[in-house]
Amino acid sequence: MSRRRVDGIKDKLTYKEGTSRQYQDQLRYKALGLCVRCQKPMWKGISKQFCEKHTLMVRESQRKRIGAKKRNKNCKSYVVKKEQKWTK
Ligand SMILES: [Zn+2]
Repeated sequence: MSRRRVDGIKDKLTYKEGTSRQYQDQLRYKALGLCVRCQKPMWKGISKQFCEKHTLMVRESQRKRIGAKKRNKNCKSYVVKKEQKWTK
């Protein structure tokens, strides 16, 4: 059964009541295997909701927000991109 979306578009996913249109879209992209931000294919095996570009973008912005001084060099996004050098 499909519940009505906020904007009236029919959808196979069901949403809790009160889910915003933006979040409904994000859930749909996630279910389709697309990046939540740019709708390009996800970075398989690394991220569950972002493409390669946005995985790195989100990681860096979160580091900035937290004020991190160290890097978790063993996390997947680093291990895969090991060849690239990181400038601070
Ligand atoms: Zn993206």
